[in-house]
Amino acid sequence: MNLILLGPPGAGKGTQAKRLEQRQGIAQVSTGDMLRAEVAAGSDIGIRADAIMKSGALVPDDMIIAMLEHRVRQTDCAAGFILDGFPRTVPQAEALDNMLGALGVALDAVIELQVDDAAMVERVAGRFTCARCGAGYHDSFHPPRAEGICDSCGSHDFKRRADDRRETVSARLEAYHSETAPILPYYSKQGRLHGVDGMADMDTVTAAIALILSRLASRVMTTN
Ligand code: ADP
Ligand code: ADP
Ligand code: ZN
Repeated sequence: MNLILLGPPGAGKGTQAKRLEQRQGIAQVSTGDMLRAEVAAGSDIGIRADAIMKSGALVPDDMIIAMLEHRVRQTDCAAGFILDGFPRTVPQAEALDNMLGALGVALDAVIELQVDDAAMVERVAGRFTCARCGAGYHDSFHPPRAEGICDSCGSHDFKRRADDRRETVSARLEAYHSETAPILPYYSKQGRLHGVDGMADMDTVTAAIALILSRLASRVMTTN
């Protein structure tokens, strides 16, 4: 199963991608995580991306396409992948189609998490992750069961993203509407786009995605 999760910052892409990774045994491919790893490593890509990410703008297509192409060729993606944060522009979506065509891989579904922009500021500003295992949390909506201790690995060490500041969120939402939203009609024309109510609680969103995937699987079985 090869999927794309779409939605503005805070929509729940990372949260749902991690759940899909665990339940479906497919790889989460987050271009944001990959870029943050480059920044942390101080690589050429990281040095170029750091200031752009902090401003809330998108990094250039050529840079991100090359990074993604390398990633989807890695062996863990052969069993399937969930793209989280890619594509974010029409040229990225076109490059992805070419890439997958060359690899002989089909895209099964594009799932759009539909949310209210106004609620995303609170979601992004309250977001943090476990520094050891990457589990995602939220100050109000999903705090660890025991305060200060990661549910998944017991670590006491958490981190927040440099770009998860209230001031940056509006620039990121604007980038989503001007540059990313135009890929919705691109996928809708391909008959691959499915909308999910991303304002529902996390488990309800997970169940709605599972329903879409099970319907797709039964459609594949009946047409074969
Ligand atoms: P994205 O990857 O789309 O930017 P995340 O998955 O990181 O979004 O979610 C942003 C924040 O909102 C996280 O702190 C997460 O715990 C929380 N969150 C995710 N989904 C929901 C939801 N359905 N309801 C409330 N909070 C959510
Ligand atoms: P979020 O989960 O909040 O939507 P991401 O972690 O996906 O954010 O991305 C963080 C930042 O990394 C973006 O604001 C952008 O600067 C950069 N970025 C990530 N993916 C892409 C992409 N596909 N194209 C361009 N820039 C990207
Ligand atoms: Zn942890």
